[in-house]
Amino acid sequence: MSDLSRGRAERVELRSKVNSEFGSERAAAYPQQSGFSARPLESGLHAVEPSFASAEPLGKRRLRASSANHATNPHSDPNARTSEFYPAHVLHPRVVHGQLHENAKKPLRVMKFGGTSVGDAPCIERVVAIVRAATRESDVVVVVSAMSGVTNKLVEAASQAEAGNRESVAAIFEELRQRHETAANVLISSPEKLQTIVQTIQARLQEGARLCEDAIQRRDVSAQVRDAIAGLGERLSAPLMAAALAQRGVLCEAIEATELVVTDSRHGAAEPFMDLTRERCEARLRPLLLQGIVAVVTGFIGATVEGVPTTLGRNSSDFSGTIMGAALDADEVILWTDVDGILTADPRLVPGASSILEMSYREASDLADLGAKVLHPKTMHALMLQGIPLAIRNTFAPERPGTKITSDGSSSGVGVRALTGSNDAALITVRATKVSDTPNVLRRALATIAGVPAELRLAPQYSTAQDEISLVVPSALAATTLHALRKEFTSDLACGIIRALALESDVALVTVIGEKLFGAGGLVGRVLHALACESISVLARSQGSSRSSFTFVVAQRDMKAALIAAHRQLQVTASAASGRSL
Ligand code: ADP
Ligand code: ASP
Ligand code: MG
Repeated sequence: MSDLSRGRAERVELRSKVNSEFGSERAAAYPQQSGFSARPLESGLHAVEPSFASAEPLGKRRLRASSANHATNPHSDPNARTSEFYPAHVLHPRVVHGQLHENAKKPLRVMKFGGTSVGDAPCIERVVAIVRAATRESDVVVVVSAMSGVTNKLVEAASQAEAGNRESVAAIFEELRQRHETAANVLISSPEKLQTIVQTIQARLQEGARLCEDAIQRRDVSAQVRDAIAGLGERLSAPLMAAALAQRGVLCEAIEATELVVTDSRHGAAEPFMDLTRERCEARLRPLLLQGIVAVVTGFIGATVEGVPTTLGRNSSDFSGTIMGAALDADEVILWTDVDGILTADPRLVPGASSILEMSYREASDLADLGAKVLHPKTMHALMLQGIPLAIRNTFAPERPGTKITSDGSSSGVGVRALTGSNDAALITVRATKVSDTPNVLRRALATIAGVPAELRLAPQYSTAQDEISLVVPSALAATTLHALRKEFTSDLACGIIRALALESDVALVTVIGEKLFGAGGLVGRVLHALACESISVLARSQGSSRSSFTFVVAQRDMKAALIAAHRQLQVTASAASGRSL
């Protein structure tokens, strides 16, 4: 048994436990109706049109698969059985794990491609080459983002519609049409297939334009409509990618994640119901995989149990990739992006940053939570429970190893692994008159913040004075939080128990991350020294609860210089590359 298959077999055991933990979701709301219907896009491809009306019950869905073979696979069997005739162990493999593993000879890889990876025709060609190569040794599910910048444009269109700017909305949709059609013209040589994909692009954009026209008339865009508009980018890139793959002979089918990822109704930041999502993925994707068909799934979007489209949050296609990986119990999830994996710092800010070969889930999760754009903060959630490895690789240099993230990370790595900066924060300082009042002030301040409710990004343990407590909140909530604290401490301020309540609005967090951080002797002193040498003041500092991170609060204008100075001082590059202790 290969390492991959062994790992997979072990995870199946774990997974049955995980499934039982998610049991309550099923009890809460089992979808009787899927809310989506499929229509042929071209032979070999299917698009799924969202419909808010009722549809066939999920369990009786007519699962399509074999028709996808005809156009794209020269060796396809035109009489292949449709998946409605599959035996139970194929349609519901979780029930018969042993048999599934006998059948599944190839490892399963979920490969997510980000916006720059699918930004234009040459990029899409690269992706096609990567996917084609992967299909030789693996079963593959592809998850795609919108082309770079497209989601921003769509969000902008929704705002322009709300403001009644019909011309701006039209200009955005025209630009998007041209961009996607230009790529299609380069990628697709068959006139009929080109026509089909162009029609699909136009239909999606018309759908968006209709939603915007409604919004213009009402001068209002609900969160639900905003999600439907924002999610169009992935609904354009997935059929385009599928058409490009089909053109190069890869058996594939474009599928909208509204059909697969079942979420709650928190529009703009929806959370998946994993148990329901697993059921959908097993029923819809497993039969395709068993026929060697690559599913090309839209990232970023999902739908409620009633079929109302949602989005998982900006930049969340990473999360979509790992949701797919967890739902299908993949052997590996690979996020393909525009850098060589996770670097020791954001390369746009720290020129000497270098790739980290191996990291632990915790290190990667800290890095994502504390601002590294390379990973969406929720990316790790779905994988950690099941122990599925995550790789981050460069679409533009696929021969390089990138970063591998596993539960153990690097066995030899001790000390600092990476630095990250996050800058839209505000620091609130409450200063008591007597040091002995500080614990009580802290307790009341935390309770007040919880009532705002404001997410507390940091409660630094070390402020400059012992009679002072410092709290870091997102910039957007700074004024509300300060107001709530003023109210809470009105009488204390009046009678002098509290000397001052101050807000520093533009601060940044510079965080040092490493699983075995405190093997890196003198870390705090060395960073403070490096920052002092650059005349950067540290406003507060805090050790992360897991002891795998340490954060310094600096003025926003100092963030870049602080990252460079700390990176140089800690020699993160050398440490990460060699795995040596600092
Ligand atoms: P994608 O569209 O592929 O999801 P993103 O733009 O969301 O890509 O994330 C990749 C970008 O994240 C990189 O281009 C890089 O500028 C930025 N980034 C920030 N911190 C890091 C880091 N520690 N390592 C690598 N990239 C980082
Ligand atoms: N297209 C979405 C966004 O720009 C999701 C993603 O690319 O990850 O936010
Ligand atoms: Mg991203």
